[in-house]
Amino acid sequence: MPADPTFHAALAAIVGQGGVEAGVPAIDVTGRALGAPAWRVRTVDTTQVAAVVRTCRAHGVKVSVAGRMSAYWSPLHLDGTVLVEPPASLTRDGDVWLAGAGCLVRGLDVGLRVAGSHLPIHPDAFGDTVLGALIAGACTSGVGMGQGGIGAAIAGIEVVTGRGDVLWTGSAARHGVPPFLREGLPDLTGAFIGAEGGLGIVTRIALLHRPAPWRVRVSGWASGAVLDVVVAAARALAGIYDTVRIVQTSDRTDGWALDAWIVSSWSAREVAQRALEAWRRLSAAGLTGVVSVAESAAARTGRAPDYDARWNPEAGGLAAFSARARLAGLDVNAPWAAFPQTLALARGLFAAQVAAGVETRLALYLAPDFVNIGVHASVPHDSEAWGPAEAAPWFERFAALPLVPYRVGRTWPPSMLRGLEPTRSLLHALADELDPDHLFAPEHPLWTR
Ligand SMILES: Cc1cc2nc3c(=O)[nH]c(=O)nc-3n(C[C@H](O)[C@H](O)[C@H](O)COP(=O)(O)OP(=O)(O)OC[C@H]3O[C@@H](n4cnc5c(N)ncnc54)[C@H](O)[C@@H]3O)c2cc1C
Repeated sequence: MPADPTFHAALAAIVGQGGVEAGVPAIDVTGRALGAPAWRVRTVDTTQVAAVVRTCRAHGVKVSVAGRMSAYWSPLHLDGTVLVEPPASLTRDGDVWLAGAGCLVRGLDVGLRVAGSHLPIHPDAFGDTVLGALIAGACTSGVGMGQGGIGAAIAGIEVVTGRGDVLWTGSAARHGVPPFLREGLPDLTGAFIGAEGGLGIVTRIALLHRPAPWRVRVSGWASGAVLDVVVAAARALAGIYDTVRIVQTSDRTDGWALDAWIVSSWSAREVAQRALEAWRRLSAAGLTGVVSVAESAAARTGRAPDYDARWNPEAGGLAAFSARARLAGLDVNAPWAAFPQTLALARGLFAAQVAAGVETRLALYLAPDFVNIGVHASVPHDSEAWGPAEAAPWFERFAALPLVPYRVGRTWPPSMLRGLEPTRSLLHALADELDPDHLFAPEHPLWTR
C-alpha cells in the first residue's frame, strides 16, 4: 500500500513535494536495524500532522515518530511505516512557551534563556535530541533531574491521536483556556509521559516558566571507600542542586568523578553560599580535589564556553559518538531504599564489561526521591565483545529488583512488565480509544496485546 502513488500524492498534498521522501533503512544508536520507513514526512505544524495521520489511517498504514534515534532501549520499529517528523516551532502563549516536539533541546534551551527562562531537564546526550522524546521517554535521567522530571516542567501537551484529532492536556484541555497549569482538572498528561509514542504524536509542549538559575559547578573525586558517604552527603543537598552526576569509567576503576551543579533561581550571592556549603559537606564526606567554579553571567543566557560544558562536549556530539561506536546501555530508576542492591548489581555488570575489554561507564544521576543508575558501554562497530547475548542475563537480574526500567523499549525481557496489570490493560483501553486502528508504536512490547 505505501508504494501506491495515490498515497504518496495524498501525503505530498499535505506537506508539499519537498516534505515527503522515500524512507531508507535506519539503525539506532545501539546498532539495531529499525527497518525502512515507506515514507519520511516533515511537518511544520499540527494541522499537517493530523492530516498525515488521517491519511495513513485511511490507507491502513502504520505511523512512527522519531527524533535522532538515540534511545538505547530500542523503542522504535520503522519498517513500512510513515515516519513523521513533528514541527520544530517556538511560540509564546501568555507566560508559557509552546515548543514544537521536533525542537532540538539545546537550541530550545538557548532560545528560552534569551528570554530569561530555560529547559530545566534534558538528557546528558549532547543536546541534539528532540523535545518530544523527553515526553515519550519520561525524561527523569540526566542533567537537571534534581529539580524534577520533565512532567514538572510542563503545563501540558498537544497530541495528535490515531483518529487524527488534536488533543490538549493540562489547563488547555478546557476550550478557550490557555496552557498555564497541568493540574486543576483531571489531567491526561501523565498518560503520555513514558508512553514511547504509543498513544499519539506529541506535536507541541507547553513549557512552564522556569527562570534560568545562577549555577556553580562543584566537582571532585571519591575513592571507592568513601562512595557511600559521598552519595549520602550529595543526597542531603536535595533542593539546591539541579544535577549530581557520579561516574566511574573503565579507564579508571579506583574511584568516581562527581559533578554537582548547585543552583539558585534568586541570586549569584545565594548560589555562592550554597556552593560553599556543598563544598564543605562533600569535602567532609571524603571527596578530594574539590573544585568549585561559578558559571559566567553569559552562561545564563546560553552563550559561553562554560554553558557548552553542560552538553557533554568531550564525547563529541551524537554523530561523532555514533560514528565511533554503538551504545549498549542498561538504565533503571531505583528508589533510594533499593540503591545498595541496585548498585551492587550494576557494579557486577560494569565489571563484566570491563572484563570483556569494553569501554564502559557506570553512572549515578541523583534525584531527591530516587536515583538513576546506568551502565553504558561504547562498543566499537567492528567488535563483538559485548552484544545482546551478553546483556540478556543482566536485564533479567535487574528485572527482579524493585525498580522501574529506563524505559521499556524492546531491550527489557517480558519479566519486567510482570506486575504491570491492571495498569497495562487500562492503557490499552485508552489506546483503543485514541488509536483504534493501532497505528502507533508498532510491535512495541508495552502496546502489544
Ligand atoms: C551518550 C548518550 C547519553 C544519553 N543520556 C541520556 C540521559 O541522560 N537521559 C535520557 O533520558 N536519555 C539519555 N540518552 C538517550 C536518548 O538520547 C534520549 O532519551 C533522547 O531523549 C532521545 O531523543 P531522540 O531524539 O534520539 O529520540 P528517539 O530515540 O528518536 O525516540 C525516542 C522515543 O521517543 C518517541 N518520540 C519522539 N518524538 C515523539 C513525539 N513527538 N511524539 C511521540 N513520541 C515521540 C519515539 O517514538 C521513541 O519511542 C542518552 C543517549 C546517548 C547516546
